[in-house]
Amino acid sequence: MSHVFHRHLQHTYPVAVRGDGAYIIDQQGKRYLDASGGAAVSCLGHSDAAVIAAVQQQVSQLAYAHTSFFTTEPMEQLADFLIERAPAGMESVYFVSGGSEAVEAALKLARQYFVEIGQPQRRHLIARRQSYHGNTLGALATGGNAWRRQQFEPILMNVSHVSPCYAYREQQPGESEGDFVARLVRELEDEILRLGADQVMAFVAEPVVGATLGAVTALPGYFQGIREVCDRYGVLLILDEVMCGMGRTGSLFAAEQEGISADLITIAKGLGAGYQPIGATLVSKQIYQAIASGSGFFQHGHTYIGHATACATALAVQHQIEQRNLLPQVRQLGNSLMARLRQRFAEHPFIGDIRGRGLFQGLEIVQDRSSKAAFDPSLKVNARLKKAAMANGLMCYPMGGTVDGRTGDHILLAPPFILQDSQLDELVDKLALACDQVFAELP
Ligand code: PLP
Repeated sequence: MSHVFHRHLQHTYPVAVRGDGAYIIDQQGKRYLDASGGAAVSCLGHSDAAVIAAVQQQVSQLAYAHTSFFTTEPMEQLADFLIERAPAGMESVYFVSGGSEAVEAALKLARQYFVEIGQPQRRHLIARRQSYHGNTLGALATGGNAWRRQQFEPILMNVSHVSPCYAYREQQPGESEGDFVARLVRELEDEILRLGADQVMAFVAEPVVGATLGAVTALPGYFQGIREVCDRYGVLLILDEVMCGMGRTGSLFAAEQEGISADLITIAKGLGAGYQPIGATLVSKQIYQAIASGSGFFQHGHTYIGHATACATALAVQHQIEQRNLLPQVRQLGNSLMARLRQRFAEHPFIGDIRGRGLFQGLEIVQDRSSKAAFDPSLKVNARLKKAAMANGLMCYPMGGTVDGRTGDHILLAPPFILQDSQLDELVDKLALACDQVFAELP
């Protein structure tokens, strides 16, 4: 019996022993095409020689130095790299070990900023329904995913949730895209006014929604509208790019494609590509300077912030992406993947929507395409799909199981940026096979 506390306590997992490009190989020698990058992490695949060399080099030189004693070259260089390429107005980077920690840091930075500038009454947070921002308690409270929150609800801080820009289900029949966007922007404004215009601290959103909705992109104009409303009421905009950032959608920051900047941006996953755990919060000049010229101390911290090996690894990952010009490849492979998914699934009776950007794509599964009715969550369609795909040697990221009846199951795809064209066929073939197997056995 395993003494590891696995998330699914009753489940037995294959033992992963080796990585080979886009594949993970288990103890039996079976190869799994990693079409989800784990959880949208492994953007360079599993055996990048340059990154492995960078990890080894940094560990042998200096693995770790606590940031209350030292700074390190990899941390300084990684911060410079990110700020040079970040959306306008970003000034500095706070390094942590993952996405939830990046979100927690963003929330506390937002709060401390208002304390520093003499607006301590600003304490309300607004996010969106069906969102996910992490599993630590602050990040979980921020997220609006009913299933993840359910049993923890009584111990979560109070956060308002407005509608997501999820056209497939939230846009009303007969409502134009422009009217839908205007309605959502107005909803945020109304919520700010309801809470008190000078009481709201920040609005949090993912530019492209990953885990909870499956690669849902916003409609044109949505984020510009959101930015304007935030500015009108002095509310900070926190963009959570933990999943969609670091090249996943074809630009280093997903916000670039929305034509906006933010006050705080969280990143993780693709930053270190899984070779080391690392996340970061990018901080605007305005927030940085308020704290620097105020108390001069951010009241936060973790043991592993700015971990030297993690920073050196992430720097090597980002250099690889840039030197090998992988972002245009993400856009081009993304277009090919979307075309193949459409070719295979556009008429599929149980696939209601195919969407996404770059190598971040999703398929929404429905029981009935015209009514968009979802399968009963008790059928666990997404878990069955994951199991069938794994049996076929494919890793994909099916999710669902929502308890609010607002969405059904979906499959998220986030393959490595180094994928070969022939592997796109393998991906789509194996996915189609898993779908056929699962849909054939449903009642
Ligand atoms: N924010 C978003 C948008 C995410 O998708 C995730 C994880 O999936 C997180 C935050 C939490 O990141 P982590 O699991 O690294 O704590």
